[in-house]
Amino acid sequence: MASPPGALKIYRSKRDFAKTAEPSGDRRVAPIKLLRFVIQKHAATRLHYDLRLELDGVFKSWAVTRGPSLDPHDRRLAVEVEDHPLDYGDFEGTIPKGQYGGGTVQLWDRGYWAPEGSTENMLRKGDLKFVLEGTRLHGSWVLVRMRNDKFGSGRTNWLLIKHRDEYSKEGDQDALLAEDKSVASGRTMAQIAAGKGRKPKPFMLAKRAAFAADAVWQSNRGAAAAPARRKSSPAKRGAKTKRATKKRAVKAKAR
Ligand code: MN
Repeated sequence: MASPPGALKIYRSKRDFAKTAEPSGDRRVAPIKLLRFVIQKHAATRLHYDLRLELDGVFKSWAVTRGPSLDPHDRRLAVEVEDHPLDYGDFEGTIPKGQYGGGTVQLWDRGYWAPEGSTENMLRKGDLKFVLEGTRLHGSWVLVRMRNDKFGSGRTNWLLIKHRDEYSKEGDQDALLAEDKSVASGRTMAQIAAGKGRKPKPFMLAKRAAFAADAVWQSNRGAAAAPARRKSSPAKRGAKTKRATKKRAVKAKAR
């Protein structure tokens, strides 16, 4: 699946792909009928959680400064950031210091999402309602665009709010955010920063195009191995069945 021409211009202009192991958006991502989402815990200058929703061949992205909350009373600031390439959804590693967004990135959640209405209308109105079916986050959420940027920063600010449903949890006090374990590799932030442990299991990319456990810039290595097609193993077919079950759950919720 190729991203639309020009869609990643801002993303690419902010990064030097000779110095960061982040993808430039040229890896092939498996086409799929459902929409995928990822949340990346990012220890940049300030720790935040990047929410990315697949739409029209890119990831619409928001930096959620304090992370998502299961408590419907909490309204979490979500700063709109540039569209990211879909292969970014498999990135886990460390962006070198001095580079844009320098710091460690952990795949904190991922799965499927479905809009609760027309994405075009909801984005225009600044009231995006959707359901998530991830490893950690489930159920109905809303992103509400704030009218004025009271900080005068020129940024577009939204609020991420959990809708009341069977997955909301009043008084959760961010218990969920205490889970410091990658959904893709099982690694803690410290292990990822050290380049140790298992490499992340791909979700967006073909297996061979996956990121290494020590995904930081290395001058003696290309940014990525070329994706290769492989006949699926029995284990992989099992994983596909599991994924299909999840997909049905999201579809049922989206109705
Ligand atoms: Mn970030």
